[in-house]
Amino acid sequence: MIDARTWIENFVATVADRSAELTDLDRRAGDGDFGTNLRAALRRASANLGSVTSTAPDAVFTAVSDGFLDTGGTSGPLFGMWFREFSRSSSLTTASLAAAAGGGLAVVQRLGKAEVGHKTMVDAMAPAASALSDAAKRAESLPAALRRAADAAHAGAASTSQLLAKRGRASYVGENARGVTDPGALTVALFFEAAA
Ligand code: ADP
Ligand code: MG
Repeated sequence: MIDARTWIENFVATVADRSAELTDLDRRAGDGDFGTNLRAALRRASANLGSVTSTAPDAVFTAVSDGFLDTGGTSGPLFGMWFREFSRSSSLTTASLAAAAGGGLAVVQRLGKAEVGHKTMVDAMAPAASALSDAAKRAESLPAALRRAADAAHAGAASTSQLLAKRGRASYVGENARGVTDPGALTVALFFEAAA
């Protein structure tokens, strides 16, 4: 089964592959710095991970959270607080991930005031959190739960394309954001996909 360190390494590799695409989405419905912000955060996270030997989620996700909290953009602090919820447990289980995703969604919504349908990262975080919560209630295995979370986050990210933004810079461009997937939501989907 995947450990937290391998999960993050996979995520970093995926983001490196798709950073141009993520930046292009933010250029079309924002200011074009999203991929740069994300890569800067993950560079800091990787540097933090260099001084950690553990593969456990508490150590790994603390390093990741700190990397995002030290990075700018709107997404940096929001992802930093989201990842902090993933560092609250010492092992990766369906139940611990369900708790992390639920807690992370709550903190991001408290800080950013975005609801589902506002065309933000919340549109992928919320369905992933409910998929994990359902999986935990059914006591599903971690691989099965991660697959469900990734599918739910992908569907949520895809749904943002047709939306008009109500939060963030994409809300300043009105109809021009129509047809553009929210890069923050896509990143959440790529994160769960990196484990699934
Ligand atoms: P900035 O808009 O400051 O340039 P980034 O480009 O780093 O920020 O991040 C943009 C992403 O942040 C968007 O794709 C969206 O997912 C997310 N976002 C923006 N505002 C909010 C908010 N209020 N709540 C949740 N997520 C948000
Ligand atoms: Mg931006």
